[in-house]
Amino acid sequence: MKTAVYSARRYDKTMLGRANAGAGHELRFFEDRLTVSTAALAEGCEAVCVFVNDCADAEVLGILARQGTRLVATRSTGYNQIDVAAAEALGIAVVRVTDYSPHSVAEFAVGLLLAVNRKIARASTRTRDGNFDLEGLMGFDLHGKTVGVIGTGKIGAIFGRIMAGFGCTVLGHDPFVNPAFDQAGGRYVPVEELLALSDVVSLHCPLLESTRHIINAGTLARAKRGGILVNTSRGGLVDTNAAIEALKTGQLGGLAIDVYEQEANLFFQDLSTTIICDDVIQRLVSFPNVIVTGHQAFFTVEAISQIMQTTIDSIGAFERGEELLNRVPRG
Ligand code: NAD
Repeated sequence: MKTAVYSARRYDKTMLGRANAGAGHELRFFEDRLTVSTAALAEGCEAVCVFVNDCADAEVLGILARQGTRLVATRSTGYNQIDVAAAEALGIAVVRVTDYSPHSVAEFAVGLLLAVNRKIARASTRTRDGNFDLEGLMGFDLHGKTVGVIGTGKIGAIFGRIMAGFGCTVLGHDPFVNPAFDQAGGRYVPVEELLALSDVVSLHCPLLESTRHIINAGTLARAKRGGILVNTSRGGLVDTNAAIEALKTGQLGGLAIDVYEQEANLFFQDLSTTIICDDVIQRLVSFPNVIVTGHQAFFTVEAISQIMQTTIDSIGAFERGEELLNRVPRG
């Protein structure tokens, strides 16, 4: 199938190309994000392959449909960048990657937590500069602390299990009970209780209308004072300005994020020689108790190989008219 691959970086070309070796789809790689202005690049492509910061809203999907696209395949689990209802109405199927190493993200969330709590990135910058002073680098033991997991699906359950291994009390909140979370020693509590008791809160739920700004001024005010918030899920889960205010007062003791609500214009590119006009991210990175990474939690050899293979398999299944195992639930 002719497939337009948007937001393609070098590793996408290499690893999607490798997964495609036996399948033989005609892949056309574009570094650009999918937007109204770049949709024309997919002219004549029956499949369009996107990533987290592409924009497949109703307008873009309308253009794609008129150009002959019948399948949108996202190289991610989350699909909040795609208007699924609009796609269905236009006769475009949407597939995602439901199963790829959830360990990649859970392990990264733990890494971010350790980095912000124990000031590892700051310490590394200091020693490179010949500064071996410990002043300002004190953290706290995770052992014996309470960790709250919002969203106890595949990633949240693994994160909970790792934190239980650190000797933490693990609380969870999710509309659905996951036996794996229970087995890991997690205990379900109402979200208010989780916020009030947790020294660390980690977000692992999807971005939905119901979860947008699930962390806001109100929830931050009700959270345990001085706690750490970890977000490896989606930027839109957190009202960033409210988090900044809570950091300023000390109500929020630390923030570790791999995702950011306005990341689409920033992430996955080298902006080190340009002037960044996003004052919110600049304010965030100025805090000593904040760590920001550029949506890299999924970025392991295992996860990327699975993402690319599943994507190629879905395109193949669509071409052969087979059932789409990773079809996004209809909107
Ligand atoms: P999953 O579907 O297995 O789990 C998500 C869980 O969130 C489900 O159990 C669901 O019931 C729960 N949930 C839904 N609404 C909720 C709410 N209001 N409150 C609490 N829980 C709620 O998904 P997963 O594979 O564990 O992935 C979780 C999220 O991680 C994805 O949606 C995606 O946004 C994010 N993610 C980020 C990266 C990254 O690189 N940073 C990579 C993969 C996934």
